[in-house]
Amino acid sequence: MPRTRLAWRLFGGWCALVVAFVVASHWMASVELARLAEAAQVRRMLDAGQAVAEGVPDNAGMEPETLAATAREIGRVSRVAVELLDANGRMIASGEAAGFGGTAAAQGDAATIDVQALSEARAGRSATTGRYDATSGRRTVAVTVPAIRDGKTTLIVRLTADTSESDAELAAGQRRLLLGSIVSGMAALAAGWILARRVSRPVEELAESAARVADGEVGRALPMSDVTEVSVLASAIDTLRGQLVERGLTIGRQGTQQEAVLGSMMEGVLAVDARTRIVSINRAAADLLDLDAGAVLGRPLQEVVRNADLRQFALQAIDCGEPVEDDLVLRAVRDRTIRVRGTALRDKSGEGGAVIVLEDITDIRHLENVRRDFVANVSHELKTPVASIKGFVETLLEGRVDAPEDRRRFLEIIARQSDRLGSIIEDLLALSRIEQSEGSGEVPIERVEVASLIASVVSECRPRADERSIAIEVECPPALFAEVNAPLLEQALINLVDNALKYSEPRRTVWLSAAAGAEGAVEFVVRDEGSGIAAEHLPRLFERFYRVDKGRSRRLGGTGLGLSIVKHIVLAHGGTVAVESTPRVGSTFRVVLPSAAATPR
Ligand code: ADP
Repeated sequence: MPRTRLAWRLFGGWCALVVAFVVASHWMASVELARLAEAAQVRRMLDAGQAVAEGVPDNAGMEPETLAATAREIGRVSRVAVELLDANGRMIASGEAAGFGGTAAAQGDAATIDVQALSEARAGRSATTGRYDATSGRRTVAVTVPAIRDGKTTLIVRLTADTSESDAELAAGQRRLLLGSIVSGMAALAAGWILARRVSRPVEELAESAARVADGEVGRALPMSDVTEVSVLASAIDTLRGQLVERGLTIGRQGTQQEAVLGSMMEGVLAVDARTRIVSINRAAADLLDLDAGAVLGRPLQEVVRNADLRQFALQAIDCGEPVEDDLVLRAVRDRTIRVRGTALRDKSGEGGAVIVLEDITDIRHLENVRRDFVANVSHELKTPVASIKGFVETLLEGRVDAPEDRRRFLEIIARQSDRLGSIIEDLLALSRIEQSEGSGEVPIERVEVASLIASVVSECRPRADERSIAIEVECPPALFAEVNAPLLEQALINLVDNALKYSEPRRTVWLSAAAGAEGAVEFVVRDEGSGIAAEHLPRLFERFYRVDKGRSRRLGGTGLGLSIVKHIVLAHGGTVAVESTPRVGSTFRVVLPSAAATPR
């Protein structure tokens, strides 16, 4: 529908009204003017005709010439053609006004008077007739007035006037009337325009303000008006503006809260629309998928995510009425296992989409694997000595071993395997204790002198060193103190030195040193010239039951738990342990314990 401005609409209506009024009133005035003018002329002519009729007593007493002269005189004075006719309508005399175009009839001519007028005159009544000559374009008016003597019409006076002069005057009058109408019409239009503007301006201002409010410019006050309807409208819009502001603030607050919640979530949250375009993505999801959260909004998932499984999952989540769940692997420098849960979105518009929650379960999976491996490893480690003990005990019980030296050898093997079982169980218990105190953060610490701690480690390891003719070199500043759990740290250092002794050839040297590190930290280093460890084993060296050479470890009475215990003791102190090793050259284990103040417990 075409739209027009209020002012134009009001003005248009006003224009139509004014024009119609002016035209109608002008037309009526013109017609009335013409009627009045003609009536006045007829009146004048009738009066003149009456005067003539009364002034001429009868045609019997006057000579036709005298009558003609009288008629001419009357015609000259009253600017009409005068004809005097007898009662039968025959011309007696005629006189013509100057400039009158008609031709006067001669005496005795047949009457030019029409029948109606003649009969009226005979009946003693005046009559008026009009005639229009199409060839000359002239209009004439004629009046017939009877002269009555003794109740009888004796003479008929006929006055004929050319109306062109009075018509011209009438036209001039009408022109003036038209001019007046136009001027007053224009004045009415101008007044109408001013009024229309006055009425429409407050509405226009209000409309502009409402449009600004709709554009979000809610701070500006709305214009007030003294027109009741406009004022009611303004206050209604003002109320709406208030509600809009309040609603905007609420939505903003909700948005911020939602953003904060999504942003602080560990899980990634990804929302897509029905065409898998990303509608929302939180930081965790962007990090997991290696995306720039700001740059991917509004883009289709297939454009930005390289993982086909995730794209497929998103489609499934959009289509499925029920929540769906799956585990996917995201290939990257380090593969990550992601658990994805998708729920379809159904909004009122029927647009749809899905929300996908991504949870990185790589570590959980890893822990599950570690636990599974651990149980398998423990079972395996225990199975071998138990089987060995069982076998030898059964053999002895069957009494098939007669030689006392064989019996002794068997019993020695049984004792060794029992010791082994004992060490494994002891190590496992130690590990579990350390893990427990590590988890609860309840490792009791005390200030100890590092030199005396190292001395007790060395005295503990001395028998094995002597047994293998290996020298232990110690280096420790005298006044070095550390806040540690002495028995645990001693255990860790014993494990490291014991390994160094186990995996070194006889007559080599093992170094054990301690030094003050940066920011109050204490650094312990255990170095040997032993077999060394190939680089591929180093990342898994501290895992439980991980051994480079299983046979050798077992032969040497190792349980595969020593370094794992070291790692957990160091972690319980908030420290780090690292290894550098070169096969056939030697290994260096480095333990760094931060100062107690800096250790989070
Ligand atoms: P184990 O009881 O077998 O010694 P650990 O956890 O103490 O178990 O050590 C794990 C593995 O690391 C050992 O089996 C051994 O192969 C290797 N290893 C540990 N310390 C050294 C070292 N100083 N020199 C060479 N290899 C070592």
